[in-house]
Amino acid sequence: MARHLYDFICPHCCADFEELVGPDDKSVICPECGKDAERQLCAPTVDWRPFVFSLRSNNEAAIDKWDRKRKKKLEVEHRKLRDHGTYE
Ligand SMILES: [Zn+2]
Repeated sequence: MARHLYDFICPHCCADFEELVGPDDKSVICPECGKDAERQLCAPTVDWRPFVFSLRSNNEAAIDKWDRKRKKKLEVEHRKLRDHGTYE
């Protein structure tokens, strides 16, 4: 079965990480707190991946900076989602 890199967000500690999982794996164990983290089903992060992968090979510092910014943004979005009760 093909495995893909998915974004996960932990609803317990707001950790944001990527995991290589099969298409039926909807949740994994959060590396931060050890509880179940959910696969991100909303799509705003889809388009950045090719961009990141192309950067990853040649400019670590820029990626780090950009990645931190992205994480902050995702955290905010995650909080918004949670506040609006759209997580199942
Ligand atoms: Zn967690």
